[in-house]
Amino acid sequence: MKLLIATRNPGKLAEIRALFRMPGLDVHSVMDLAEAPEVEEDRPTLEGNAVKKAGVLARHAGTWALADDTGLEVDALGGSPGVHSARYAGPACDDAANVDKLLAALEGIADRRARFRTVVALADPTGWSAWVEGVCEGLIARSRAGTGGFGYDPVFLPDGSAETFAEMGAARKNRISHRARALAAARTAWADRLAARPPA
Ligand code: IMP
Repeated sequence: MKLLIATRNPGKLAEIRALFRMPGLDVHSVMDLAEAPEVEEDRPTLEGNAVKKAGVLARHAGTWALADDTGLEVDALGGSPGVHSARYAGPACDDAANVDKLLAALEGIADRRARFRTVVALADPTGWSAWVEGVCEGLIARSRAGTGGFGYDPVFLPDGSAETFAEMGAARKNRISHRARALAAARTAWADRLAARPPA
């Protein structure tokens, strides 16, 4: 049975492949499709976007599809940038601009509490879908540290660590990250379903 992953990121795909290695399950990504549908991430929540992406892909390809969406929620900013994390500094911004905007918004603010939240959704072509989430709690540092990772990693200090995600290296990050936790929850929730029957 085929499971299509809605990502063009080889790192994410490898992480998902490793977790969903199970007999009879054939894992592919949208990169293997001749024509992948473009899906606008226009829903007001992470779960809305993840379910939309998985559902559109499942209907398009006639198979199971899995999609994820991640946001950084900062308490002192009322949960922002949240679902808007990718485009926090504007429609054509990059990671550096997003981090600059975040540090500026928190200038002089003592409460640095924040969390990464990843939602993973699974859908089949009949319209069935479900989602699970993974959270990593931490603090926003006062300045960047480290060169690894991507996105907001240089300013995110996960609880219990003196190092940012960008300082600790992929192996350690992947043991505690929001995405790793969401994918572990996805495997627990859906392994039997994926192994048991093809989508109707
Ligand atoms: P996406 O849902 O994976 O596309 O991520 C949305 C936004 O969150 C983008 O700005 C990413 O750079 C950022 N982001 C997602 N996951 C991580 C992470 O593990 N570390 C740092 N930033 C992340």
